[in-house]
Amino acid sequence: MIASVTVVGASLAGLGTARALRDQGFDGRVTVVGSEVHRPYDRPPLSKEFLAGTMARDELDLLSPEDEPLGVDWRLARTAVRLDPGGRSVWLDDGEPIASDAVVIATGSRARRLPGPPLAGVHTLRTVDDATALRAELVPGARLVLVGAGFIGAEIASTAAGLGVEVTVTEALATPLAGPLGVELGRVCAGLHGDHGVRLVAGVGVAELVGERRVSAVRLADGRELPADVVVVGIGARPCVDWLAGSGLALAPDGGVATDARCATAVPGVLAVGDCAAAHRDWAGGPLRLEHWTNALTQPNTAAATLLGRDDPLPPDHEAPYFWSDQYGHRLQFAGHRRDGDLVEVVEGDVDAREFLAVYRRGDQPVAVLGMNQPRQFTRWRRRLAARATTTATV
Ligand SMILES: Cc1cc2nc3c(=O)[nH]c(=O)nc-3n(C[C@H](O)[C@H](O)[C@H](O)COP(=O)(O)OP(=O)(O)OC[C@H]3O[C@@H](n4cnc5c(N)ncnc54)[C@H](O)[C@@H]3O)c2cc1C
Repeated sequence: MIASVTVVGASLAGLGTARALRDQGFDGRVTVVGSEVHRPYDRPPLSKEFLAGTMARDELDLLSPEDEPLGVDWRLARTAVRLDPGGRSVWLDDGEPIASDAVVIATGSRARRLPGPPLAGVHTLRTVDDATALRAELVPGARLVLVGAGFIGAEIASTAAGLGVEVTVTEALATPLAGPLGVELGRVCAGLHGDHGVRLVAGVGVAELVGERRVSAVRLADGRELPADVVVVGIGARPCVDWLAGSGLALAPDGGVATDARCATAVPGVLAVGDCAAAHRDWAGGPLRLEHWTNALTQPNTAAATLLGRDDPLPPDHEAPYFWSDQYGHRLQFAGHRRDGDLVEVVEGDVDAREFLAVYRRGDQPVAVLGMNQPRQFTRWRRRLAARATTTATV
């Protein structure tokens, strides 16, 4: 029996953990520690509607009036700096220890940066403060260079182009998004940039950012210089796990906190959820970190059940993960897990019309699905993949 839980990280997965504990009947003390000064807010709109100026700040808030009875002790603008090896005490940056029966790590991830001195005009996008600062510089006619054509980079490019900004996207890989989507469909999705007048420079890395105090250009590895008034570095994120050094917790090869399928680490009473957690997944053959909103939403239910000794089934997206991305007015949706060698077939629509559904197969088994502007068909396939995965997954 546990009487107190400390959740570290006050965002989607941290709030979700507090909610799930209460929903599952836990009436003990719940303390939520968060580095940011803000109460939990939603990140996906930061590269989309909020950046475009069509969504107000208060619409990002994740806490609603229904959360009133949560009875959480919020410790905001406080950073956890250490976890005792036994996992019973979390130490905050002001020296305060919080002792509890269980700790849930929900510290998410932070944007990776390029090496070099800081220059004005260079941004990353992870927080609402980042989005507000970037938005102020996206004025019509400004020249924006995006370093990295991943999903967040592509969304920022799309939003900035809609604001009248002159956008160039650079990508070290020959085909953007080839990792998650494969070369064939990565190429199709990257084609959206060209459709909307955004220049894509792929297959060449960035050597350095040029400028004295403010950035003036991006120098590519082949010597070319792309003039820039604003630069966004979108080269991925790293899990926020530095504070766990010395805790005895194992990290997975991808840097996430290694857990079993039920979010439990090897230290009794210490669990991890969301972007910072690498949960065991059968299809991955080990622990794997996912930076997907839906994963951060559903894992906390599993973590709370584990803490309270319940044996609830794993959420469907544990074995068939899901994410979406909105770019240039198109909705991309992906579910399942793809790897090199899978065969992909367009089963509905037409890639040239930017409206299609593609299924990835390993042998004769469907393993993943990608939809562009095909929400209904996609939802059917997503359910099918999840149902199949649930019947085959082990814990
Ligand atoms: C711009 C943007 C757009 C996105 N769009 C999509 C999308 O379209 N689709 C999709 O599926 N996913 C999207 N995502 C991903 C999704 O938002 C994340 O998967 C989700 O936010 C993860 O939630 P989390 O709670 O695990 O981590 P986070 O949201 O990263 O929150 C972790 C919190 O912990 C805090 N913290 C870190 N270290 C400490 C510490 N030591 N002590 C105390 N607090 C700490 C951080 O400050 C942060 O507030 C997007 C993400 C971003 C940034």
